[in-house]
Amino acid sequence: MAHEVEITLPNARKVTVQTGLFLNNEFVSSANGKTFPTVNPATGEVIVQLQEADKADVDIAVQNAKKAFKEWRHTEGAARGQLLYKLAAIIEANLMDLSEVETADQGKTLAGSKANAISAANVLRYYAGWADKIHGKTMMDTDSFFNFTRHEPYGVTAGIIPWNYPLSMWAWKVGPAVATGNVIIVKSSEKTPLSALLLAQYAKEAGFPPGVIQVLNGYGPTAGQALVEHPEIAKIAFTGSGRTGRRILETSSKTNLKKVSLELGGKSPAVVFDDADIDKAVSVLAAKFYFNNAQTCVASSRIYVQEGIADAFTKKFAAAAQAIKVGDPFTDGVNQGPLVDDIQFNNVLKYIDAGKEEGARLVTGGRRIGSQGYFLEPTIFSEVPEGAKIMREEIFGPVTCINTFKTEDEVLERANNTTYGLAAGVFTKDLNRAIRVSSALEAGTVWVNCFMEIGPTVPFGGFKESGQGRELGEYALNEWTQIKSVKVNMS
Ligand code: NAD
Repeated sequence: MAHEVEITLPNARKVTVQTGLFLNNEFVSSANGKTFPTVNPATGEVIVQLQEADKADVDIAVQNAKKAFKEWRHTEGAARGQLLYKLAAIIEANLMDLSEVETADQGKTLAGSKANAISAANVLRYYAGWADKIHGKTMMDTDSFFNFTRHEPYGVTAGIIPWNYPLSMWAWKVGPAVATGNVIIVKSSEKTPLSALLLAQYAKEAGFPPGVIQVLNGYGPTAGQALVEHPEIAKIAFTGSGRTGRRILETSSKTNLKKVSLELGGKSPAVVFDDADIDKAVSVLAAKFYFNNAQTCVASSRIYVQEGIADAFTKKFAAAAQAIKVGDPFTDGVNQGPLVDDIQFNNVLKYIDAGKEEGARLVTGGRRIGSQGYFLEPTIFSEVPEGAKIMREEIFGPVTCINTFKTEDEVLERANNTTYGLAAGVFTKDLNRAIRVSSALEAGTVWVNCFMEIGPTVPFGGFKESGQGRELGEYALNEWTQIKSVKVNMS
């Protein structure tokens, strides 16, 4: 059965997408024959039906992966790297298809999808460069033994990815996994499955052998849970909600203790001191926050502004929010598309109601736009009680809180008073303060006079309940390899 479907995009262009499960380099039907729809959030209309993976398909994928690993682990690093380089080039050659399909499926602007696709290619290229540089150390502490370490792949691994950055998350998992000699099964989000399948098609085109990279479409409690429970999967890399992350850890502990890395979102503070360049702080924070509708794990959803500049900052930030053009993400000049689906949309509306009920001041926004699709006004609350739901919980929508502070000590205490610790920002012209505050903020990444600057070379991950392990950069290689010590008796 063919699983290639020509779809007509909202801009009237026709693109061929894959809808099968990508097993052993073929797009195939699911074992139970079930399908599920993916929906364009700008219109609420079904784009296409996809094959839905379940436990039986996970089993097939694992058996394929085990077979593939036998050869892949002995493939030279340089050869693995070459395939990743080729994949990156194919992504760039197909930028238009990939980003337009992503925008139709996910709702972010075309410029946003393009940026994500380019960044995915860059991440794959970065790990291509590492593929022939994975090595251990020698320890010559005595003449009796020759000791050395090997950084070995885990074998069969899985990546479970979310719907907010499907292209980037695919690359963040696949790049380091295959560069280090693992084979990987990716489960895409049921809300945004299309780009993962295009990437799978490109991986085949690049020449990856069958079973090295496989992609399953399906739901979390079925396909996702089956991956997590599988006794022959040695490692899971997960990005998504804290609730699912906890469940994955629990399942791992009850099954084969597979290694788990987690990236679980945040409630990131941005601290703006009164010596900061206000215009720069406003333009950076507004552009980065509302990008992808703030459906971003690092979104600066708590902005603390020092008293002296608070009124000016809030007015300028409100003006920046009001200037954001919300609408059809295929249209030039639109800065913000719809939220990903009705569930997310209704969740965010509930948070807006909670903000009003808990006494925060609605500065701007808060309303639905139009009656079709899931469009929402960029929203700002100020004077938010520190204990309010919207100050404490991850909203994952275009709603930010602006509060004021008097002193550095006070703001540090408030900024750190969260169970999350993914990222934070500080805006100041005082270098000493920038260093002092970035050291004191409890977060895996601190941006100084910038925000949400993420690239392949710098590690990314959370303190506290924002996760465990690191992605990107050299540090991520540790997450995908296990160290073997070898002692050779020389006597
Ligand atoms: P989720 O955690 O349910 O989904 C993320 C991925 O995990 C998806 O691929 C999903 O199918 C899979 N999954 C779900 N249950 C699973 C299970 N039992 N075993 C294995 N895999 C499973 O997140 P969601 O429901 O899509 O979004 C809910 C909230 O999570 C959002 O509102 C947001 O706050 C947060 N979120 C965070 C991130 C992030 O980047 N950290 C990304 C997406 C969502």
